[in-house]
Amino acid sequence: MESTLSARDRVGVQDFLLLENYTSEAAFIENLRRRYKENLIYTYIGSVLVSVNPYKELEIYSKQHMERYRGVNFYEISPHIFALADNSYRAVRTERRDQCILISGESGAGKTEASKKILQYYTTMCPTRHNTHYIRERLLQSNPVLEAFGNAKTLRNDNSSRFGKYMDVQFDYKGAPIGGHIINYLLEKSRVVHQNHGERSFHIFYQLLESGDNSLLTRLGLQKTNPQHYHYLVKGNCPRVSSISDKHSWKIVTKAFTVIGFNEEEVEELLKVVASVLHLGNMQFGVDEFEETHVTTDTQLKYLAELLGVAGSALSEALTHKKLHILFVGEKTMISPLNLDQVLSARDALAKAIYGRTFTWLVQKINQSLAFQDEVYYTSKCSSVIGLLDIYGFEVFQQNSFEQFCINYCNEKLQQLFIELTLKSEQEEYEAEGIGWETVEYFNNKIICDLVEEKFRGIIAILDEECLRPGDASDITFLEKLEDTLGGHAHFVTHKLANGKTRKAVGREEFRLLHYAGEVNYNVTGFLDKNNDLLYRNLKEVMCQSGNQIVKQCFHPDELIDQRRPETAATQFKLSLAGLMDILILKEPSYMRCIKPNNGKQPGQFEEVLIRHQVKYLGLMENLRVRRAGFAYRRSFEAFLQRYKPLCPDTWPNWRGQLLDGVSTLVKHLNYKPEEYRLGRTKIFIRFPKTLFLTEDALEIRK
Ligand code: ADP
Ligand code: MG
Repeated sequence: MESTLSARDRVGVQDFLLLENYTSEAAFIENLRRRYKENLIYTYIGSVLVSVNPYKELEIYSKQHMERYRGVNFYEISPHIFALADNSYRAVRTERRDQCILISGESGAGKTEASKKILQYYTTMCPTRHNTHYIRERLLQSNPVLEAFGNAKTLRNDNSSRFGKYMDVQFDYKGAPIGGHIINYLLEKSRVVHQNHGERSFHIFYQLLESGDNSLLTRLGLQKTNPQHYHYLVKGNCPRVSSISDKHSWKIVTKAFTVIGFNEEEVEELLKVVASVLHLGNMQFGVDEFEETHVTTDTQLKYLAELLGVAGSALSEALTHKKLHILFVGEKTMISPLNLDQVLSARDALAKAIYGRTFTWLVQKINQSLAFQDEVYYTSKCSSVIGLLDIYGFEVFQQNSFEQFCINYCNEKLQQLFIELTLKSEQEEYEAEGIGWETVEYFNNKIICDLVEEKFRGIIAILDEECLRPGDASDITFLEKLEDTLGGHAHFVTHKLANGKTRKAVGREEFRLLHYAGEVNYNVTGFLDKNNDLLYRNLKEVMCQSGNQIVKQCFHPDELIDQRRPETAATQFKLSLAGLMDILILKEPSYMRCIKPNNGKQPGQFEEVLIRHQVKYLGLMENLRVRRAGFAYRRSFEAFLQRYKPLCPDTWPNWRGQLLDGVSTLVKHLNYKPEEYRLGRTKIFIRFPKTLFLTEDALEIRK
């Protein structure tokens, strides 16, 4: 007994609920640190799994490890991602309840790796259904393809996902994976045309240039030269990354295409799109004596026309002119030339639109290949799903813009869901079991969600209004409108409204939101443009006529007929998040919170300031407080009795009476104090995990 206790001292507690001083952030971080030093990267807060990125390969993900976690309860074995995966799987298998696993954390914290490990667990450990064994391979192979097109090297992570992802894995009634479905969120399209120093564009560009065979590159009009030859790839000045082998990745991606069911022609069409983006970037323009802009790189234009299957003259005209539809008596169109700046931004907008839409096409294509074919089976509701959400965590940089605003709004929504699902389900269960329960005090962040998304007065509504308003609308008038409308709001501050009262300064072009996790200043510069995400009509027209099979599907003529304004970027995002909430609210959630221990991607370095920041922004202390307020664990009488009956002579080897009486007898014998547990109608509720750990210890000693 003593040796286990001292070991526990050394490695800390495996569940934060066990911390004596559970409100102390210092104690929390100390526990993380001790465990991290011992390579114990996982710790629970009740059923929430917290992980710290080890930045080195640990020998804990083998098939033997997977087997160790199969069918085992959380507190019977050390914390692990496989325990979380198995726990959700068991609920699907035995109770057919749809599950979701929500993974959050900042860039580089280990979210994507975690979601891959979960997927590996399912594809390795679950039984196979006859004639759908190919689905495992497709589920796994969807990752390299999406990563090639949606991931990039950033300063924070060499393989950073630049999109949010929700993936459903479907299981049949025997627990075999039979299909999947992916939804993508907000790809960072701006990366196609610009990267910060030390960063790259999406991996696929470099893979293609490095490893595409000569005849392919010739067909695409590309040269196997340094990627620095391409204007859209030079900004980051970082063509190669030591941790990445573009050659090796290319092999994996091309193989994955085949597994997912792309034929040769489709792959070629897809790579044509990739190449066309590079050619667009290398387009150059001149200005003649009438101040009119024209294309000066005819070779580039020729390649573009060929790859996209459009008329070169039409494309060149659309890039340099703007077509205005004027509705007089009848319909009239006017063509007006664009100046050089406008031409360059039209070109960039086209590159972003082509790439962004192709990415969505790719996701749809993967979905077709993951779709379970048997309609009857679907409608008979014999399947259940586990959804995996790998989405950007809270972002707070020196400068925060529209992207951080969207991402942090997304995190507010997820926090709201956490509150709804966790507290609601707790309350419901206590009620169903007839257990007395006092309400827990917690901060409900609905007020912040409303601040952002409310109709008419929310920030997004005000932004959209400014985007629509003709005349002098600008980022600054947007800020002024915010001030006028939201001046009195408790979670909204600007330079004018602050009156020098707040701790941190707010710049003249900034507004600050007091998020549930902390304060963030947003600079409004670029908000209107990014929200408009405008692509001129005549460029759309040309794309709609494209002979490239993919581009053709991405630009539909219906778009041109529709007189309504396309939805703005923020509104689209808001709607897609609402859709995500609808999906998640029907499922039983598990949570994983990932922490990045240092900015240098180094193993063994535990940087306290950085970690404290994440503990705060992940809301972990709040998590812990809410969990501690309720009962830590609950188990059915049957399961409890089955496991612990050897500890009491009256229940061993078998209890013959009522289950409730058996459990009563057992806990009396174990000396549980009245405040430590409650007996409901079908379950025992245990208040502190410590109680359970001691019982587990007793079982261990008996063996
Ligand atoms: P995120 O998706 O949160 O941005 P990733 O999952 O891409 O972060 O992880 C970033 C990097 O950290 C990975 O490329 C890998 O090198 C390392 N890493 C993350 N999780 C683990 C792990 N469990 N074991 C070993 N290395 C890991
Ligand atoms: Mg990621």
